[in-house]
Amino acid sequence: MNLRRFCGLAALMLCALTAPAHSAFQIDVRPGYGVTGRKWLSDYNPCLRGTDYDTPVFVMEGREPGGTAFLFAGTHPREIAGPVSAAILLENAAVSRGTLFVIPCLNVAGMSVPDALGQVPHELIVETRGGKRVLYYGDRRIPLKAGESDPAEFRHPSGYTHPDGSEWRNVNRNYPGVQDGTPAQMVCFGVMELIRRENIGTCLDVHEATAPESVFDPRTGKTHPGGTLSYSLITHPKYIDTAIEMIFDLEERGVNLKPEQSIPGFRGISHFEIGEGTACVPFLSETPNPAQNDHAVGADPLNDARHPIAERVAIQLEIFREWLGRCGEITGAPVELTGLPDKSQIELDGVWAWLR
Ligand SMILES: [Zn+2]
Repeated sequence: MNLRRFCGLAALMLCALTAPAHSAFQIDVRPGYGVTGRKWLSDYNPCLRGTDYDTPVFVMEGREPGGTAFLFAGTHPREIAGPVSAAILLENAAVSRGTLFVIPCLNVAGMSVPDALGQVPHELIVETRGGKRVLYYGDRRIPLKAGESDPAEFRHPSGYTHPDGSEWRNVNRNYPGVQDGTPAQMVCFGVMELIRRENIGTCLDVHEATAPESVFDPRTGKTHPGGTLSYSLITHPKYIDTAIEMIFDLEERGVNLKPEQSIPGFRGISHFEIGEGTACVPFLSETPNPAQNDHAVGADPLNDARHPIAERVAIQLEIFREWLGRCGEITGAPVELTGLPDKSQIELDGVWAWLR
């Protein structure tokens, strides 16, 4: 028995002593013909097995051999365009060459509770092709367990310290993770292990950020600035030229993004740690969510006039297409996808017509 297998088995035995019988929460995804297999994140980190933090991993394997790519959404569960875009991919598209792994909701525990900002109901009902369907709008972080509290500050194992102690529960501050660590560390370890074991050539972590417009808070009479991160494609500094080329292509299709790169030394972020620790070429996409500004009042994450969900999902789907279209060039082995609606189809049909 090799060392990795021994460690995995030992961790499973250790974890199994405390684990409940099954994972507690999942979002509604109705896989189409293109989904050829299903795994769990706990297949890559056995410490997640049976916990509230395990989540399905969908496999879309083409008939022709090719590269491997990995898309994950729902790191921050209130960034709702991500899980919706991933669900549209899983329900409509198929891979003809290579293999695509998809996690539509990485942080299921965060998705199982309402957003702490208190702006948006936990359940949003939409009318899809198959009738009424519940979309969840969750919290940014993994919830505290009964009796738990946040430390004064968050210290990443690298020594990097964040002044907001609740960031120990932020999945995108805890890469590369720890196999039997905190819930966020265990999830991050699972992602890294999936990348290593499946020889993932490139990955895309799908997010939303605070919308750029300033907001007026009638409770205080103050105006607060918007965010600066939305409409961006972020990568490790090693791959910034590729991100810029992707952005030029996307501009021709009516999608305007700005390139950003990880800040060396700001530890725990997916694109930095994956770029540093593996051969996988990492990207992170950001569309604007109008309900994410801490001071927004009455914001609607689906029907906002400036940033409707259809526009944000259409942008994410165009990013998926651009990213996978470049997989051959980026990794040396292509992944080819069919059946994904493009921006004009989403604008014509709306988003919900593309969910079963
Ligand atoms: Zn995010």
